[in-house]
Amino acid sequence: MYDNFVELERECKKCNKCELCKTRHNVVFGVGNTNAEVMFIGEGPGENEDLQGEPFVGRGGQLLDKMLYAVDLDRKKNIYIANIVKCRPPHNRDPKPEEQEMCIDWLRNQVKLIKPKIIVCLGRIAAIKIIRPNFKITKEHGVFIKKGNVEMMAMYHPAAVLRDPRKKEDAFQDFLTLRDKIKEICPNTYK
Ligand code: SF4
Repeated sequence: MYDNFVELERECKKCNKCELCKTRHNVVFGVGNTNAEVMFIGEGPGENEDLQGEPFVGRGGQLLDKMLYAVDLDRKKNIYIANIVKCRPPHNRDPKPEEQEMCIDWLRNQVKLIKPKIIVCLGRIAAIKIIRPNFKITKEHGVFIKKGNVEMMAMYHPAAVLRDPRKKEDAFQDFLTLRDKIKEICPNTYK
C-alpha cells in the first residue's frame, strides 16, 4: 500500500501484473478529486479510455457527465472515478476474474486514500466485485447497502443505458437517490 496518491499513480502506471499490460496504450488510473466523498467505480477502460488514459470518455462517458451534471456533480470537482481493472480488456470483453483479482489492490489503495463516504458501482461487473457476488443489477440498482462505514449502491453502466434507452428513466432516478444520500451524509460535496 502507498500512502500518497502521486506515488500510487506512478507505480500503477508501470504495472505489468497481468496480461492486459501487453495490449494497452495507457493505464487508466482514475480521474477527479482525491478528497471526494463520493467515488464512482466502473469495470474497466474501453477503446477511447485506453487511447486517452481517462475513464468514461466515449459516448458512455458523455452520458455519465450529463447525468452527473444534472445532480451537481462534476468529475473535475467533487467526485472521483476509477475502474476495477486499469488496462483495457481486448475487444471490450469483460475483465476476467483473475485480471480483476490482480488489479483490485490498486483500487483498494485508491479507496483507502480517498476514504469515500459513498461508492457508486457503474454496472453489473463492478457491483458483483465490490458489493457482493450475487448482486442483481436489474433488481437492486439504486438501493443503498452499507458495508463497513461506506454506503454503496449500483447503477446501470452508461453503455447499457445507451444500448437500451428504456433504462434512462431508472438511471436518472438512481442519480436523484444518490443526490439525496449525498445531502444526508456528505457535508462537503455540494459546498
Ligand atoms: S490491468 Fe491492472 S493488474 Fe493488469 S497490468 Fe493493468 S494495472 Fe496491472
